[in-house]
Amino acid sequence: MPKAIVIGAGIAGIASSIRLKKKGYDVTVLEANPYAGGKLHVLEQDGYRFDLGPSLFTMPQYVTELFEIFDENANNFFEYKKKDIVCNYFWEDGTTFSVSADRNVFIQDASKTFGIDQAILSEYLSSNKKKYDYTAKLFLEKSLHKIETYLSKDTLRGIWAIPGLHVFSSLHQLNKTKLKHPKLVQLFNRFATYNGSSPYKTPGILSMIPHLEMHYGTFFPKKGMHDISQSLYKFAKDQGVEFCFRESVKKIHHQGNKVTSVTTEKRALEADIVVSNADVYPTYKNLLKDLPAPEKVLKQERSSSALIFYWGIHGEFSKLDLHNIFFSENYQEEFKAIFEDKTLHSDPTIYVNITSKEKWDDAPKGCENWFVMINAPGNYEQNWDILIHEAKNAILKKLSRILNVDIESLIQTEYILDPRGIEKNTSSYRGALYGAASNSQFSAFLRHPNFSRKLNNLFFCGGSAHPGGGIPLCLLSAKIVSDLVPPAHD
Ligand code: FAD
Repeated sequence: MPKAIVIGAGIAGIASSIRLKKKGYDVTVLEANPYAGGKLHVLEQDGYRFDLGPSLFTMPQYVTELFEIFDENANNFFEYKKKDIVCNYFWEDGTTFSVSADRNVFIQDASKTFGIDQAILSEYLSSNKKKYDYTAKLFLEKSLHKIETYLSKDTLRGIWAIPGLHVFSSLHQLNKTKLKHPKLVQLFNRFATYNGSSPYKTPGILSMIPHLEMHYGTFFPKKGMHDISQSLYKFAKDQGVEFCFRESVKKIHHQGNKVTSVTTEKRALEADIVVSNADVYPTYKNLLKDLPAPEKVLKQERSSSALIFYWGIHGEFSKLDLHNIFFSENYQEEFKAIFEDKTLHSDPTIYVNITSKEKWDDAPKGCENWFVMINAPGNYEQNWDILIHEAKNAILKKLSRILNVDIESLIQTEYILDPRGIEKNTSSYRGALYGAASNSQFSAFLRHPNFSRKLNNLFFCGGSAHPGGGIPLCLLSAKIVSDLVPPAHD
């Protein structure tokens, strides 16, 4: 049986291993950490459980189809439910807004709160849908870099629709023109952060992102976000994928235009194909030192990182739900701080995720597990200890002010993850959450392809490769890789 080596057991590495197994390969996953999941990891501390990485789950069908390709009923392995409330938003002036998963209810509520004409909002949402429908197959589901993609009907349809795609205006310009009300503009600007970009730079085409959340919905895995990686990991093992932990790959060996083997600290392993789920930057700079690297791609601006405080909170907050956002008063300055000044803003937008709202045993009785995150620049060796200290004070003051309670006195336990930790734990260059940022019109086209242009049995999956970061796109990258890899029997 031909041998496939997958470097890294992040969500895309696990998904690739399942798909390659299905294609008939003998698959071994080599993972530097002692666990599977990469950024999708967990922390248990003082009676609280925290999902360490992703908290927002969209497009669950990309998870369930990994069970289904083996003719299994996904419900037997992984359960999730749809959320009725997508997100609660809070502003300093006391305005609050709860986004309903029901489109009509959302439009009515938004019209009432922000005074926007229902027809305008409805048209805005429909144009987001159109962007998604026109481009998803082209941008997300295929290797953009293979000539066949350019010749397909979907591609042509996508290209024809370009004027309506708002490729040449920023997301902010588009939202300001269409939605007008500054708070509604801010709410829809926030979707740029779903791939770690700035709404003032990212193109308007990314207004397709809210469509994913508002049309398809948001979900919560019944056992928590960590179950996404764990259920797939267990399933991969059941299908015969071999996982080797604490085994960091040190070199990818090649001869002519082919990879021949990889070496770890412990051994050498021959391979017919290799899939790197490691960030493309360290893959080239550390594992393929003797191969000319695609410098233009590697020099792309990186997505934002994050600073997260995991707080066990003694108390329950009926105003809060699973996803809650407390907006900055100066959003534009916040993104300038992150992307231009490479620092934290003094009034950051705060995201509070509370899984104990859905899964009560994630916190002791009468308590809540708060995942308190602000967007942060990548790790450029700033003085993080000072920045974290200042950010914590700003966050505590803001949350206490808006919720009218002294939050600091309620904290029972604390764990902190910053861009240095994210970089160290997963080898993501500069601790970027989503690989490269989409801060220019063409960034989406410039991501690293899912294959090597020099070594024809080397493939790339995960957040730093096409089509991008976030769980759904990482899972799609694994699907594209599996489409590119020849069947094992050929
Ligand atoms: P990673 O998770 O980056 O894992 C790569 C793996 O490769 C790691 O386990 C690493 O140890 C291993 N590796 C690297 N180099 C080597 C080597 N040389 N040898 C062996 N192993 C190696 N996404 C969402 O969809 N929704 C969210 O709400 C969301 N929020 C996020 C919040 C945070 C705090 C973070 C950190 C991320 C968030 N994301 C979110 C992004 C999402 O987590 C990532 O896009 C996704 O998990 C990345 O998966 P990946 O497959 O690229 O691999």
